[in-house]
Amino acid sequence: MMISPLQAWLPTPQGGPVVIAGPCSAESEGQVLDTAHALAATGKVQAFRAGVWKPRTRPGGFAGLGDVALPWLARVKAETGLLTTTEVARPEHVEACLRAGIDILWIGARTVVNPFSVQDLADALRGVDVPVLIKNPVSPDLGLWIGALERFAMAGITRLAAVHRGFSRYEVSRYRNPPEWQIAIELRERLPQVPLVCDPSHMGGDAALIEPLSHAALDMGYDGLMIEVHPNPQAALSDAKQQITPARLEALLRELALAPEDRPVPAEILALRTRIDELDAQIVDMLAARLDLVTEIGLIKRAEHIPILQLDRWRQVQTARLAQAEALGIDKELITRLYQLVHVASLQVQERTVQAVGR
Ligand code: PEP
Ligand code: MN
Repeated sequence: MMISPLQAWLPTPQGGPVVIAGPCSAESEGQVLDTAHALAATGKVQAFRAGVWKPRTRPGGFAGLGDVALPWLARVKAETGLLTTTEVARPEHVEACLRAGIDILWIGARTVVNPFSVQDLADALRGVDVPVLIKNPVSPDLGLWIGALERFAMAGITRLAAVHRGFSRYEVSRYRNPPEWQIAIELRERLPQVPLVCDPSHMGGDAALIEPLSHAALDMGYDGLMIEVHPNPQAALSDAKQQITPARLEALLRELALAPEDRPVPAEILALRTRIDELDAQIVDMLAARLDLVTEIGLIKRAEHIPILQLDRWRQVQTARLAQAEALGIDKELITRLYQLVHVASLQVQERTVQAVGR
């Protein structure tokens, strides 16, 4: 893939993180222009976002104003100098944006799950080198995310970036879309040249989570942030809970004072890492020892014709470990998820043992 660095097309004053901000949806010309002027005045925002066609999970929500809002974005650019970006989901949207002079297009999370749609959009952009932001798909599927990046790269788009906005999950979580950071980290490993932008608004789904998520992303070396900003968040026609005012964004950006990049790692960190490596090695040794015991149990269960899955015992294990986590003040979700993996691995080891010795 031939990918331009983000600073080549969305430069920031000191080469710091790029900031893309603006309302979830364009609601009126006044709302768009007021927000854009307030953002431009911070001097810390490079691009203005506003949804014009809104993909609503269920019918009945505000679906965006469509084409009528595009000239407002052109006005934003003319009056503030901010670059403009909006979501496109269909080739007609692409055509309308190109006609209206929108600078950057983004592909939404609900579109990235569908390779047919992604290919149609990539085909609509063949021969037009407009920058494209690709949100992660709603499902935690790195292949779909990479596939979408590849489809645009193959259509000749060189100014691409990935936007990490979190993944849908059935279970209740404190996040609207849990980040699953490891998926974005793996994207970084597999495609190191693709710039990575974090969207803490859709991840958290809550204005209060924007700050901690932004810090976390920048601490992990993300290249930029996409944040939803509305002059009066409570009155927003979409995503009201997760939008912040321009003033609050300015305060947040002031807060996000960054450690300069490429500083040598201090000796204390190296020493702590050595101890972490030792603990990690012990954790793996202990898991191996645990699986040995599980194998022994599997043999006895087989001899005694006892089913492998014992729900009462599994409940006991969870209750005991969650109580321990609570007493130690560590995240219960971490222990829940870890033990789900350990339990499934234990069942698999027993099943394999039983199969190996014969029933
Ligand atoms: C948005 O950015 O307003 C949006 C709909 O995003 P996503 O596709 O990430 O849900
Ligand atoms: Mn939104």
